[in-house]
Amino acid sequence: TDQKLIRNFAIIAHIDHGKSTLADRIIQLCEGVSEREMREQFLDNMDLERERGITIKAQTVRLNYRAPDGTEYTLNLIDTPGHVDFSYEVSRSLKACEGCLLLVDASQGVEAQTLANVYLALDHDLEIIPVLNKVDLPAAEPERVMEEIENVIGLDATDALMISAKTGQGVGDVLEAIVKRVPAPKGDPKAPLQALLVDSWYDQYLGVVTLTRVFDGTLKPGTRARMLGTRALHDVSEVGTFNPRRTKAKQLGPGELGYLIAGIKDIDETQVGDTITDEANPCAKPLEGYKPSVPVVFCGLFPADAGDYEDLRDALGKLRLNDSSFQFEPESSPALGFGFRCGFLGLLHLEIIQERLEREYDLDLITTAPSVVYRVMQRNGEVLELHNPTDLPDPVHIEAIEEPWIKATVMVPDQFLGNVLKLCEERRGRQVDLTYAGDRAMVVYNLPLNEVVYDFYDRLKSVTSGYASFDYHMEGYHEGDLVKLDILVNGEKVDAMALIVHRSQAEPRGRSVCQRLKDLIPRQLFKVAVQAAIGGKVVARETVPAMRKDVTAKCYGGDITRKRKLLEKQKAGKKKMRQFGKVEIPQSAFLAALKME
Ligand code: GDP
Ligand code: MG
Repeated sequence: TDQKLIRNFAIIAHIDHGKSTLADRIIQLCEGVSEREMREQFLDNMDLERERGITIKAQTVRLNYRAPDGTEYTLNLIDTPGHVDFSYEVSRSLKACEGCLLLVDASQGVEAQTLANVYLALDHDLEIIPVLNKVDLPAAEPERVMEEIENVIGLDATDALMISAKTGQGVGDVLEAIVKRVPAPKGDPKAPLQALLVDSWYDQYLGVVTLTRVFDGTLKPGTRARMLGTRALHDVSEVGTFNPRRTKAKQLGPGELGYLIAGIKDIDETQVGDTITDEANPCAKPLEGYKPSVPVVFCGLFPADAGDYEDLRDALGKLRLNDSSFQFEPESSPALGFGFRCGFLGLLHLEIIQERLEREYDLDLITTAPSVVYRVMQRNGEVLELHNPTDLPDPVHIEAIEEPWIKATVMVPDQFLGNVLKLCEERRGRQVDLTYAGDRAMVVYNLPLNEVVYDFYDRLKSVTSGYASFDYHMEGYHEGDLVKLDILVNGEKVDAMALIVHRSQAEPRGRSVCQRLKDLIPRQLFKVAVQAAIGGKVVARETVPAMRKDVTAKCYGGDITRKRKLLEKQKAGKKKMRQFGKVEIPQSAFLAALKME
């Protein structure tokens, strides 16, 4: 491939502004797939992504584009996820590009993640092409949105393109803008190999597949590939590209984006952001990698059936290969047995991993209360990084507890501003800034992450009728008046439900958990007390009334098959229950009880 004719670009946008739809149109225009193969959101190939309509993993596709002047270009398109939990994936996609399309929904305008993504693109020195999408909508206001791009983002919008990814209007101009405005990749094919490990995943048939961007040199079958970070060494057996089908190639040169297969078995040997070089002629120094992604939310995952522990471990290992941003380590709990403590980038990330484990690996799981990482300053001078509320030392040994704070940016139409301020204040927020762009406000708050992980995003959507957008990054650790809230069922502590909360919120929080649990715990033959307590002091209490009569009684002496069916159903249901003393708690209750009203 002629290096001068390669263009590597990503599409960045706020969620739902039309990235995946535009990617589909571009693929179609370049005839990357036949009409028959084309289906909506072609690049979102995980079932879960299709169902949720969001892009989780960045995907790439190589396309041939014949420009009106007859020149044949090679375009590498990288689709990126838009949700705040996955900005890490965006950052790694951008590292492999020279330019990006900044897509803004012309009926919505600049949103919080539009901004966040622009900052990432500027960090990577990319050529940014502003594109207004959805101009087919009657509600589109391209002039207003152009002003926002200039005023809020500070980008020149005079050359912004007006398109409809849905109808295809203007998409040809997008391709022309890419080849004219995005620079060709630099790099020397004769220099020692220097390639970036962009992504890696586990394929059932091929083993570990690694996506790389070559900067210098050439990568080909037979290359002794050395990973500079992990020091792993493997003979490359195959290289190629995704067009979008996997297609073998003779070699990958500078500026090219493609995969390599090298019989790698160990998932930990391919770390995203690592530099790949040729052992026979190594490059002098590694590429600047990625900032490692740091999980900010932790929770325990336990198999509902203890016999599934090994299966769960295997599944977590495989998922981790496809998603290096999540972590896990073994943990055990008196109530839940053996499981894993897992770290995630956010709550959506947690839900997605949990759902994939249940769906793709057919595992029944119990998820414990998500928690952020606290720093516990102990009287003996040691600092404990607390990932699990149950590990909190006795208060007499504690000097202070620090909790992580975030800096959150919310963009919202003026009429909902009051609701947003109220929500942020309720969550112990401290206002940093408030500015306007037209009739939309941009509010910046410092907030304890602890107050955000459970349901802040859902609440924000509901108090603004879905009009607010939200983005955040870590700000730092600050001391807080924090206490451990224990949940007791029938007088027994349920360790998996322990929470760390701000003292001022212990009582309302405890009440809310108890009320929910009361409805989630099935009635027993006896009354069951549900309590929330700090130390030994009960701060909230509810009672699950006793069952009135035996529900199976009517089966006795009756239809035998019906009775057997009922028993089988009960047996299946049992697997999803956990025994606490004399009480069984359904698996679904663990996470459900923690949602706030
Ligand atoms: P992403 O989250 O940025 O990948 O957004 P999607 O591509 O999934 O699009 C979000 C929604 O907007 C989908 O329902 C699309 O059909 C719709 N959409 C995308 N582009 C257009 C457009 O140009 N016009 C209209 N009317 N709808 C669009
Ligand atoms: Mg998408």
